[in-house]
Amino acid sequence: MLTVAIVGRPNVGKSALFNRLAGRRIAIVHNQPGVTRDRISAPASLPQTPCELIDTGGIGEGADASFSDAVQTEAELAMASADLILFVVDARSGLTSVDEALGRVLRKTQTPIELIINKSDTDAQEDDGSEFARLGFGTGLRTSAEHGRNIQALADLVDEHLSPIQEKIEEVAESTERDGLKIAVVGRPNAGKSSLINAILKDERTIVSDIAGTTRDAVDIPYSRDGERHTLIDTAGLRQRSKMDTSVEVFSAMRSERSIRRADLCLLVIDLDAGITAMDRKIASTIQKENKPCLIVANKWDLYHPDLPKHERLEKATDHIKRELFFLHYAPFTCVSAMKNQSLGLVFKMINEIRREAQKHITTGQLNRLLGDALLKNAPPQNKSLKKRLKILYATPAVNDKYRAIPVPEIILFVNDKRLLSDNYSQYLENQIRERYPHPGVPLNLSARSRR
Ligand code: GDP
Ligand code: GDP
Repeated sequence: MLTVAIVGRPNVGKSALFNRLAGRRIAIVHNQPGVTRDRISAPASLPQTPCELIDTGGIGEGADASFSDAVQTEAELAMASADLILFVVDARSGLTSVDEALGRVLRKTQTPIELIINKSDTDAQEDDGSEFARLGFGTGLRTSAEHGRNIQALADLVDEHLSPIQEKIEEVAESTERDGLKIAVVGRPNAGKSSLINAILKDERTIVSDIAGTTRDAVDIPYSRDGERHTLIDTAGLRQRSKMDTSVEVFSAMRSERSIRRADLCLLVIDLDAGITAMDRKIASTIQKENKPCLIVANKWDLYHPDLPKHERLEKATDHIKRELFFLHYAPFTCVSAMKNQSLGLVFKMINEIRREAQKHITTGQLNRLLGDALLKNAPPQNKSLKKRLKILYATPAVNDKYRAIPVPEIILFVNDKRLLSDNYSQYLENQIRERYPHPGVPLNLSARSRR
């Protein structure tokens, strides 16, 4: 979801503008600066582009934050999360040192910023506002939230910024719809990549188009199955050449690295019978470092303890994979036999599920409510050496990667002190998020930033 952040020092009219853009008829505004707010985010209704508004006002405040630190934290939060920042100043009180301090922080960002000179209630106030140009964000748009002046112009301005981004997102969605996901089939030599690809292509439910591109690293094979189109990136297809090489493994690792980078989803093929080796872990760690969605294909199931009952085999396989590839914990796995054409349907079922679930976006509002509940359910422990407890001021999905076929969410937590976020607690929060937004196969990165 595209996000518009409203920033500015207290009392300039952020919340009044927020309510206007959200189309709320009753403006719940307070006269005192810094009054606790019950609303932080809401869907915008006035702009035509679907987007979420966030009002950062008050979020940075707290017992141990000075006033200007709070305002700066709010600016940083906006820069981390927003596609557009509305920097609000007050025409009636003129330029203040807090505005200038905020402006200095905001100038560091690539995010587009529009200066909004609110409380421009009458034409008369328009003459004495040129001082705001000193902030370096142009002459600004004059609004009056109170009197409804230029509110439509403000909504149009939001659309001007967001509609090209929205169009690009829709283009990516359309091209994914058209060409499907780019799925890299990677794994160490002999894991069964070629066998898997052959089995897929030979399957009667698969229609193979002309083999598209052969690059130095891989062959791209467009195909469709059960009406879903995909492109397989086949790194094994070139193995004949590399067989002549003395360092097969090194070259195949390099090839898979490049394929992983251009893939939307990786199928990591492992040889369950031989067990996971250092080379598997190396490829897996590339997938993890590149932040790529992944499905582990545990191959050679037919050879894996064939004498044991199925649930024991499955338990063993789960233990092995979870232990050896623990850093790829977000990747589900499925046991198949490429040679015997066993359970290939499961692979496709999971690919489609990964794709479908990934489209369920989490908004800032939902995220904050969810994490609020998670903190109530299981409060962060007191840190003994720092003698403090973790507090989450605010959480926001970061804006990167919105043009990926499978978006990979990154969640930024604004906290009182990031040293207080333990790995355990971070994992707990991730689990809580995944309970509501499972995102199977997709990494979910939580990163913490300390309030200044
Ligand atoms: P925030 O702290 O920046 O969110 O500011 P609020 O939206 O709570 O507004 C602070 C005060 O300014 C309230 O008393 C509002 O009624 C008032 N206010 C907001 N917008 C305008 C405006 O355009 N003109 C005038 N005259 N007052 C406004
Ligand atoms: P690649 O190097 O990853 O492409 O691996 P291949 O597809 O060439 O497979 C390596 C070897 O494992 C070949 O001898 C295959 O016949 C064998 N193989 C592949 N998949 C399976 C499987 O599911 N079960 C068994 N038993 N053997 C397999």
